[in-house]
Amino acid sequence: MKRSLVVVSNRLPFVISTNENGDPVRKNSAGGLVTALAPLVIKNDGYWVGWAGNDLTENMQIPESDDPTAIAHGIKSSQIIPIYLSKETFDLYYNGVCNGTLWPLMHSLPTLAVFRGDQWSAYVAVNELFSNSTFEAVKKFDNLDEKSNLVWIQDYQLMVMPMMLRNLLDEAHITCKLAFFLHIPFPSWDIFRLNPWANEILLGLLGCDLIAFHTNTYASNFIECCFYILGARVDRKEMIIEYGNKTSVVRALPIGIPYDWFEKNARIAPKPFNFKEKVIFGVDRLDYTKGIIQRVRGYERFLEKYPDCREKVVFFQVAVPSRTDVEDYRNLKDELEREIGRISGRFATAEWTPIKYICNNISQFDLAGYYRDARIGLITPVRDGMNLVAKEYVACQIDDPGVLIISPFTGAGETMNEALLVNPLEQDLIADAIKTAYDMKYYERKLRMNALQTRERLFNLDTWLESFFDAVDMIDNFKKMKS
Ligand code: UDP
Repeated sequence: MKRSLVVVSNRLPFVISTNENGDPVRKNSAGGLVTALAPLVIKNDGYWVGWAGNDLTENMQIPESDDPTAIAHGIKSSQIIPIYLSKETFDLYYNGVCNGTLWPLMHSLPTLAVFRGDQWSAYVAVNELFSNSTFEAVKKFDNLDEKSNLVWIQDYQLMVMPMMLRNLLDEAHITCKLAFFLHIPFPSWDIFRLNPWANEILLGLLGCDLIAFHTNTYASNFIECCFYILGARVDRKEMIIEYGNKTSVVRALPIGIPYDWFEKNARIAPKPFNFKEKVIFGVDRLDYTKGIIQRVRGYERFLEKYPDCREKVVFFQVAVPSRTDVEDYRNLKDELEREIGRISGRFATAEWTPIKYICNNISQFDLAGYYRDARIGLITPVRDGMNLVAKEYVACQIDDPGVLIISPFTGAGETMNEALLVNPLEQDLIADAIKTAYDMKYYERKLRMNALQTRERLFNLDTWLESFFDAVDMIDNFKKMKS
């Protein structure tokens, strides 16, 4: 079914830069969100509201795509509603609130969160811009009374805009459902309430008809926050929240990966490693939530505790630079490099380097080869909304399968029962999990991996989209049940 649709996200599915003549051109951006949502916008002739980067100014036209291989190639410039932000506003909103306040708080690391009123005002102002632009996009829909009209808002950068938009739509008597998906964790209420603007965020989200999360834990944390902080009426069993004259349906809809794509490319991706040792592999954005420092220390403990394994393994860590405008992120890179240097200095021999480290982005095609050839996938975030890397590692275990070690503090870890689950905060536990994985015999690796693969193949990216639209189409039934 085709429906009138607007997707709203902090970033557009491409970045704008200028060429040598000063003309704007599209630069592709990859990532799960674009892969999932660009085909939807193309199929439905929908609109996409978002920020196109610092180079886009109001006097510029959005260019058409000149790259047929880009995922967003089929999105015409007329379908794009750009948001323009000054450098100062962007800094307060994005580096300030999104990365400095919400990111640590939502990942249950409140001591890293900074709360500043001036930054919060910028967040609200930017959300208002998004709301106004989205309203203009909705007004272009063919039929403003159609029940299937939908705005789908993405992620924590846009948590207060739903209620703003709801009010604009209601005043204009436009029929349109609002849905929200949070791609990061939602913490327990005792953490969330530390945010001085907790009420505004909850009220903002309750402008939506559907509010969806990766896991039941996040969904129920949100419901409890609405209950304790706002005093909303909640139905925990049906996962419905009533506040004032608004009813919102809450759902857990775990995202999946394009499984077949990874499996297929694992068969043809080049061989990345040239070691005789077994490879332990980690790949993450350089982010303190990923537990990379704890991971290398856990590996150090493994080498200490199991000296027979020295020179038989190599730990290969890829860290992709991220949010380099934020001090905590720059400090993390320095600390990680110091730790890797220290551990290498401690254990390296003339023939063997215990850790290899790349601080760069690798294409997903090449990654498929890294995943395939790694005997152990070591994925130990201290907190992570989902963690797609874990799922991609599983999809690429063709032939002789490796072992996945995963932190239970990730969305993925909540369902991956056949992986080795390890609390990343205790080095001995990481060391022991690596040893168990190192020793694991073929039949057990195969048995565990088969089960993991069956689940991920089934709950892939397409399933996620289908379950999202099923939930959207059930909204009226659930609301009717309440009234
Ligand atoms: N990724 C990539 N190249 C890299 C590192 C990561 O393409 O060098 C991709 C990876 O394949 C995955 C995504 O980036 O799809 C990371 O998603 P995840 O949920 O694991 O973490 P996030 O970065 O979203 O917190």
